[in-house]
Amino acid sequence: MADFDVAIIGAGAVGLAAGYACAKRALNVLVLEQAPHIGAGVSSRNSEVIHAGLHYATGSLKARLCVTGRRALYPFLADHNVAYAKSGKLIVATQESEIPALERLARQGEINGVEGVRWLSGEEARALEPQLNAVAALLSEESGVFDAHGYMAALQGEIEAHGGAVVLSSPFEGAHAQDGGYAIQVGGEAPTQVSAVRLVISAGLGAQDCARKIEGFPAARVPALHFGKGNYFALHGVKAPFARLIYPPPIPGALGTHYRRDLGGVARFGPDLEWVDHEHYSVDPARAAGFYETVRRFWPALPDGALQPDYSGIRPKLHGPGEAQGDFVIDDASAHGLANLVCLFGIESPGLTSSLAIGEEVADRLGI
Ligand SMILES: Cc1cc2nc3c(=O)[nH]c(=O)nc-3n(C[C@H](O)[C@H](O)[C@H](O)COP(=O)(O)OP(=O)(O)OC[C@H]3O[C@@H](n4cnc5c(N)ncnc54)[C@H](O)[C@@H]3O)c2cc1C
Repeated sequence: MADFDVAIIGAGAVGLAAGYACAKRALNVLVLEQAPHIGAGVSSRNSEVIHAGLHYATGSLKARLCVTGRRALYPFLADHNVAYAKSGKLIVATQESEIPALERLARQGEINGVEGVRWLSGEEARALEPQLNAVAALLSEESGVFDAHGYMAALQGEIEAHGGAVVLSSPFEGAHAQDGGYAIQVGGEAPTQVSAVRLVISAGLGAQDCARKIEGFPAARVPALHFGKGNYFALHGVKAPFARLIYPPPIPGALGTHYRRDLGGVARFGPDLEWVDHEHYSVDPARAAGFYETVRRFWPALPDGALQPDYSGIRPKLHGPGEAQGDFVIDDASAHGLANLVCLFGIESPGLTSSLAIGEEVADRLGI
């Protein structure tokens, strides 16, 4: 008999949400994480925005899982006393030429079934946010910000309350088929082997490496990985100018450098999109020039010298510069031919918002 019903590689928001979904379905769950704490990867380097689901292509996993994930997330946060604010978001056209992009977004939101979206004139937008430069705006009432770490701690608590385990400092080093399930090699200070009936790879930027370490996983099914770095600048010496999230119309490959006031009241701008060839997280102060230019389109009063380099994160992208924006990839046996195995690739934004729905999708794909 296998040690566990399901082993999940990666204790980010998505791996933990998959663990929670499986634990709720009465499975004995093991989550393995290489780092000494949960949420050490992409899940700790992002905007912590709850997206409504306007931006994603018709019929895509992103569109479906963002909307269902967001609908599940607010009640989960409330039930588990995790801090959040349903602040709302304004997506702004700062000149007439940007209005068609907003109209396309409004139509996409309708197709995706997004609730609470309203068209505002520039005047109506300024009545809500007096410092805003806008000729028109879309108000998304369902958008918000939340404490991603508190959320992940709550998921870990749920897994453990259901009898599962989240084991840290335990890198996945490989797996092979055994007795209808998987024998899994675990590295770290005390290397060991465990067995599980089902295996889920939810390793963020490490997903491709993990998939390559599974015996028999077809090389052609491991997608290319591109690093889409996003840099943030924080506002210093000036009070946060807006209560709501402020977004420009989307840019190719990202939602555009936006404004956010976090739960502690700190105002931040970002992420931009910088293609890099390896993981590194320093923020180049020279990028400030681009931020001043972008931000002043919607906030002309931004003072000189107020932006300070803050932090960065890296999107695990499956498409590179100039290529069309892709979808999440959730591959099961129908894609890679290995029974009881689900691999997640390219879980970039809106992965946090979607995580509870991705978890349910993983459990469904495992047939449990
Ligand atoms: C700049 C930026 C901004 C974003 N903003 C938002 C936003 O506002 N809203 C939103 O919804 N989404 C946002 N996202 C996307 C969101 O952060 C991700 O989709 C989500 O956090 C992915 O979670 P994950 O669990 O898949 O990955 P991760 O959090 O990276 O978790 C994977 C885990 O696997 C572990 N791991 C890797 N290899 C191994 C191994 N061999 N053995 C064991 N463990 C391993 C890693 O250490 C890591 O902890 C943003 C992303 C970025 C980069």
